[in-house]
Amino acid sequence: MSCKLSLVVVLVVMMCVAAYAADPLFKGAEAIPADAIVLFDGKDLSKWVKCDSGEPGHWKVENGYMTPIGGDICTREKFTDCQLHLEFWLPLMENATGQGRANSGVFLMGWVYEIQILDSYGVNSGGGDCGAVYNIVPPSVNACRPPEQWQTYDIFFRAPRFNENGEKIANARVSVIHNGVWIHDNVEIPHATPSRDVVEPKGPAPIELQDHGCPVRFRNIWVRPLKG
Ligand code: MG
Repeated sequence: MSCKLSLVVVLVVMMCVAAYAADPLFKGAEAIPADAIVLFDGKDLSKWVKCDSGEPGHWKVENGYMTPIGGDICTREKFTDCQLHLEFWLPLMENATGQGRANSGVFLMGWVYEIQILDSYGVNSGGGDCGAVYNIVPPSVNACRPPEQWQTYDIFFRAPRFNENGEKIANARVSVIHNGVWIHDNVEIPHATPSRDVVEPKGPAPIELQDHGCPVRFRNIWVRPLKG
């Protein structure tokens, strides 16, 4: 057998082995990829704690969703780069205005980078509206559904990078798909969203959901750590 032919045979064998060894993410009609960590399946808060005390997650769970009460909740597990899927439902709060309309939020890396959750249906989206990297980058388009409907976020987050001296060498970045619509395309997050004074973590940190005093609902939350 010629050298070239041997090489081809070896490559074909390697490709077959690789194809055989790959474990499929979906074996049927599953909605969640097999390598995802399910953070909330509608049944319990075992993957969550109260952010301020570390006590077990305390939000109200009923009918397959959870509702905020008594402060933010954080994941027990910590993450850096990740893909995060979550679904939320916003109540109709006719007498509320602005930031009072079904406010919540999902934070990456603890209380550091917020993707805003708000009833912003039909408004010209600004930095405080649903889908905004809060107070930093408005969504490129308003993809909100009306209140009292389930909505989805698919968030692709890249944590900031630091050198060996602890100096930041790359800002955090995020892409967000809201209800199937790309509203952020790898935008930079130059500092923490609550304020510039909030320290950006240099290592893994929890995912946090905000209790802003509004009866919003969450369901079907899963995350895939990404290798960055
Ligand atoms: Mg908020």
